[in-house]
Amino acid sequence: MIEKREFYINGRWTAPIAPRDCPVIDPSTEEPCAVITLGSAADADAAVAAAKAAFPAWAATPPAERRAVVVRILEQYEKRKDELAEAISCEMGAPIDMAKGSQAPCLPWHLNNFLKAFDEIEWVKPLGPHAPNDRISLEPIGVVGLITPWNWPMNQIALKAIPALLAGCTCVLKPSEESPLNAMIFAEFCHDAGVPPGVFNLVNGDGMGVGARLSEHPDVEMISFTGSTRAGKAISKAAAETLKRVTLELGGKGANVIFADADEKAVKRGVIHMMQNSGQSCNAPSRMLVERSVYDRVVDEAAEVAKSVTVGPASEPGRHIGPVVNKRQWEQIQGYIQKGIDEGARLVAGGLGLPEGMNKGYYVRPTVFADVKPGMTIEREEIFGPVLSIIPFEDEADAVRIANDTPYGLTNYVQTQDGAKRNRMALALKSGMVEMNGQSRGAGSPFGGVKASGRAREGGHWGLEEFLEVKAISGWASDIAAE
Ligand code: NAD
Repeated sequence: MIEKREFYINGRWTAPIAPRDCPVIDPSTEEPCAVITLGSAADADAAVAAAKAAFPAWAATPPAERRAVVVRILEQYEKRKDELAEAISCEMGAPIDMAKGSQAPCLPWHLNNFLKAFDEIEWVKPLGPHAPNDRISLEPIGVVGLITPWNWPMNQIALKAIPALLAGCTCVLKPSEESPLNAMIFAEFCHDAGVPPGVFNLVNGDGMGVGARLSEHPDVEMISFTGSTRAGKAISKAAAETLKRVTLELGGKGANVIFADADEKAVKRGVIHMMQNSGQSCNAPSRMLVERSVYDRVVDEAAEVAKSVTVGPASEPGRHIGPVVNKRQWEQIQGYIQKGIDEGARLVAGGLGLPEGMNKGYYVRPTVFADVKPGMTIEREEIFGPVLSIIPFEDEADAVRIANDTPYGLTNYVQTQDGAKRNRMALALKSGMVEMNGQSRGAGSPFGGVKASGRAREGGHWGLEEFLEVKAISGWASDIAAE
């Protein structure tokens, strides 16, 4: 079993101040696959002190040198990407082919996109021809705390640590206590890439310990958080006292609007997307809104597709879905399935209990409810499991009303071959992102939500700018050549 009890602080693996061992449970087997230590506020303080001391030199490092360091992180990834994928697979249950094919590769994907955005930054630029002696200077915000979830763990770390480093910030990462192993490998990448001591630090811990301390810490200028809406609110409150910048990427309850003229693969695509990562994606299309005239046919097809989704151990190759992350999550999902039944939704695939033939591991049956009504618990709340709700609608206006009637606003989806209707829907839906006809988002497209789904955009130049301050300068000596 892997034993990783130390934290990465000031360029060294460092013993915790008050060790508190915590097993990392493989959700496929319910057995521990590693032991880590949960840190304390004092460990967080030590990491923040290291980041604070390192900030002036890193902020003053020429951008090209910071870029070169980040490129070397990519080289480390190339050497150890299989190991990274195996860590993700065992700690949070992503099937190994998926961990190798889409979870781990989030790092190079985002890193390369951020490099493109970085290359376009003008660090000191004119305000405009009307104000020849005005300049806008972009400057790193300072020490940043990065708090991340377990569901797409490397994705979230890459979306925060890479832009922070490029911007010239120093950082303290607190990964989810459920998925610390990939984060520790990332810290090794940083070390081997020559990230200077104190620029990147990692402290494992839980939300109430290390997470809360980073959120309130007077020397932390910004918290970049991804996780539940509940924790996002707690962090915002803790950060308010020191008025730090807080960026929030929170939960979702996406609508996938299927019009009668949707393409023939739309229903299958929607169900498979919902089940991917065992439903544990913030942008999962968890509410399928279906035009009444094709409702019965779509319900039948969705049920068939869900029944064809196989469930299996994360270590086995293949295109199945794995377990959900832990026992608590499994029990919570069972509770939602029970609620769906109790509140009168019609179960057409899956249901309560373990999939047939399984007696160990946190596996959930791919589940579909039809005749879900707006206002039912499974329609309102983020389930974070492989559970799809199907809801009929009458016309375009009805679809918009139901889709927008949710506290969340992360990603909505639209399926129709009518271009004018697609464009109207895209503008009418209240969410940070709208994806239509299976078209995935382009490189550098900003990721983020509105309402209870958050306050931030990650990825591309928007994601980089979150880590920069904007300074307005007037009286600039325009006749002096740039140094
Ligand atoms: P979570 O909120 O329980 O934990 C996320 C992180 O926050 C963990 O590191 C945790 O230790 C920490 N934390 C918890 N309480 C805290 C507190 N009071 N103060 C400081 N830190 C605290 O979420 P989770 O269960 O790990 O992840 C699932 C949630 O994340 C879902 O709601 C999902 O939708 C959301 N998510 C959102 C996005 C997005 O980009 N919008 C992406 C992935 C996941």
